[in-house]
Amino acid sequence: MENGMALYQSAQFIDTWTDPEFDKLHSPRTVAPHSGIYRCVGCGVEIAISEGQLLPAIHAHPHRLGTREAWQMVVYADHRPKFT
Ligand SMILES: [Zn+2]
Repeated sequence: MENGMALYQSAQFIDTWTDPEFDKLHSPRTVAPHSGIYRCVGCGVEIAISEGQLLPAIHAHPHRLGTREAWQMVVYADHRPKFT
């Protein structure tokens, strides 16, 4: 389980997607633009957050000293229902 990445069991529920929203870095205590899983670019800590909530404040997690503390969305949570 210790591979440093977000984990999932069923590939049928996860898709790869290219979008500039995944490239943006967000400072601590700024609003999360989308619901999903965000990762600290400095230490790899992952969090789940809802759209519109504040990302964690600086030093709110055991961050690796000397690295940048910023959040990058790695998994987007799609709230729309799917009817197949
Ligand atoms: Zn960190």
